[in-house]
Formats: sequence, C-alpha cells, structure tokens
Amino acid sequence: MSDQPQPSVPEPSTDGSVATRLAVVRGRITAAAVAAGRDPREVRLLVATKTQTPEAVLEALAAGVDLIGENRVQELVAKAPAVADRVAEGALQVHMIGHLQRNKINQVLATATGLETLDSLDLARAISERCVRDGRTGDRALEVMVQVNVTGEESKSGVAPDHAVELAGAVATLPGLRLTGFMTIGARLDDTDEDTVRAGFARLRAIRDAVLASGAPGTSTATELSMGMTGDLEPAIAEGATIVRVGTAVFGPRVTAATL
Ligand SMILES: *Cc1c(COP(=O)(O)O)cnc(C)c1O
Repeated sequence: MSDQPQPSVPEPSTDGSVATRLAVVRGRITAAAVAAGRDPREVRLLVATKTQTPEAVLEALAAGVDLIGENRVQELVAKAPAVADRVAEGALQVHMIGHLQRNKINQVLATATGLETLDSLDLARAISERCVRDGRTGDRALEVMVQVNVTGEESKSGVAPDHAVELAGAVATLPGLRLTGFMTIGARLDDTDEDTVRAGFARLRAIRDAVLASGAPGTSTATELSMGMTGDLEPAIAEGATIVRVGTAVFGPRVTAATL
C-alpha cells in the first residue's frame, strides 16, 4: 500500500461556523465508516476543546455535540460552569484526554465524567480510592480508559503496548473505576506514512480484543477504542475506532499553542 498516494485530508477551514465545520467532520466520519463496512453509528465524535473559549464550546453543544474532551485540568475546571447544566441533565459527557497529575485528581473527579488517560496502576489506585471515599462505586464509578503509547515515542504518555493488557486487567478490578476501553494518540502523518499510522491503531485494537478475550473480571465493558484526530480519523475508523477526538477540524487551527 505504501506505493499508493496518501489519501488527502481536507485542510481545516478557517471560515464558516462551528456548525458547518461539524457537519463536514460528521460527513468524514460517515464516509470513513461506510468505506470500512461499518455502521457510522458505531463511531462517536468527541470534540477536543483545548484552548477554545466557553462560547466556542457552547456553539458546538448547540450543534448537537454530546461529548467533549479537555487536556488540561485548569481548562477543564474553568469551562465546567458553562457546561454544568448539560452534564447534570445527562446531555453531555466530559472526558479528560490529557495527562493527569495525581495532585489534580479531585478537580477531575468534580468536573469530568470520564478519564481517557490512565497509564499507571498507581494513578488508577489513587483515583479509585477517592471514588470509593465519595461513594462512587458500581454504576457511579468513574469511567476510565487505559492510554497506550502505540508509537513508543518518549514525548507521549501512555503505557507501553506490552504492559497494556496487564494494566487493564488490574484497573478493571478497582471498585471506584469502570474500564470502558483504550485510547491512543497515533503517529503523526507528517512524520510517517499511513501504513505506520494504521499499524498503531491496529495494535490498540489487538490489545482491546486480547483484554476482552481474557474474560478477566471487570473487563467485559472495555469495548471502546478512542483513536483518530483531525488528520487521521479515516485510518482510525478503518481500524475500529469507536470514538474519534477532533479539535482543529471543528474549531479551525488553534491560535494558542497547546501541548498534547
Ligand atoms: C488536541 C487533541 C486532539 C484533537 O486534535 P486535532 O488534531 O486538533 O483534531 C485529540 N486528542 C488529544 C489527546 C488532543 O490533545
């Protein structure tokens, strides 16, 4: 496949409303699912809201977005009041998609409905303990995903692929957490070819399948694959993504620098 031209990813447009750009993103998701022989309803759109104002986030919610992701605890907390009503109604889920430091656990528990970036058993235990203390077990346990560093780049968070199955099995037994799946940040298409990007996503799917097949306690809910962003949502969907996390294609290029 590497001798074929790269599929062209539409340039994120800088004009048009959030609603218009969302429609384009939804069209891309549908087309990619259909091309992969999948039901487009199997793929959820998470809108990545880092560096965006509360007003921009509300524009996305008005256009039907029901899942957003925030990278930094500070921004998560700052935007929480703007979206609190929607969260309380059950109309919006908020995922933490950035690296979490232990001293910020309480702020995340107060404002996020899920955490996609669990990458160590220490962190998992600390969060679970807080949840149990707050009476959040069973149905009220925090939804978490294990983040896997499929590319092995040192700059990226996530557990190494070889340790992911074991970590997931351990996380799944903690009373304050409900393991819902796996998350990864793919290799950058600028740095590598599409085959390498796809292989990373396939690796995450293989990890998920191994965990589900293990039948280990608490792992039967670990079905989600959060993978794919503005530049690589098509290969991610081809490899089984159930959540794609999209920022730039929804809001336009970020003005402020933000770290992943
Ligand atoms: C910013 C971000 C995204 C979205 O990236 P875009 O390229 O803007 O679509 C997805 N996942 C994570 C973890 C991010 O930080």
